[in-house]
Amino acid sequence: MNKKKGSRSFVVYTAIVVALIVALFAVNQLQEKKENTDKTLSEAPSIEGQPVIGEENAPVTVVEFGDFKCPSCKAWGDVNWPQLKKDFVDTGKVKFAHVNVLFHGEESRMASLASETILQLHPDQYWTFHKALYDAQPANHDDSWVTEESMLAIAKSAIPELDEQKFMDTMKAEATVNAVNYDISLVNKFNVQLTPTIMVNDTMVANPMDYASVKAAIESELK
Ligand code: CA
Repeated sequence: MNKKKGSRSFVVYTAIVVALIVALFAVNQLQEKKENTDKTLSEAPSIEGQPVIGEENAPVTVVEFGDFKCPSCKAWGDVNWPQLKKDFVDTGKVKFAHVNVLFHGEESRMASLASETILQLHPDQYWTFHKALYDAQPANHDDSWVTEESMLAIAKSAIPELDEQKFMDTMKAEATVNAVNYDISLVNKFNVQLTPTIMVNDTMVANPMDYASVKAAIESELK
């Protein structure tokens, strides 16, 4: 009798432990799901003064917070951008803007200054230079590659009509430092922690590397 009672309480005990483990697992899953969900913020980032591609009156604005030194940003540009452009920018549904993020120190800063310089001197050529910068990122992204000389060389090959002297003067004088500092203030304001960060209007996309997630966020805004 006693023995039977003991084995029954063992069964009950085991069942409770199993139930607890299942419950913990479920809570964990829920938490993970929550972290992987797009976040709607109180506002969308302003794109004033930023490079913008797409129709001015497009109903949805997508902002990329990107760093020219970041390999994921390069990958995003190579893989997701062409699809986004084809599906939404070329069809007039989305206008796209880029904000500089300086997570990789002095080289990020110099690449940001160079891109803001091109935006100021040759605004029509901004996106050509933008792509040329990412194309120049070496396979080992930790390798040092952003210098005044490399910025000039990339700008020269991307933009045949480049005013070289003006480009170097503007770079050396850091004449676009206010634009770079403004971008840093946006990064802080929107608490950008990772690059690339993609915002679709006021929604921060949880998985920006997954094109389907970006697409779903845009389609939800278009409804
Ligand atoms: Ca900017």
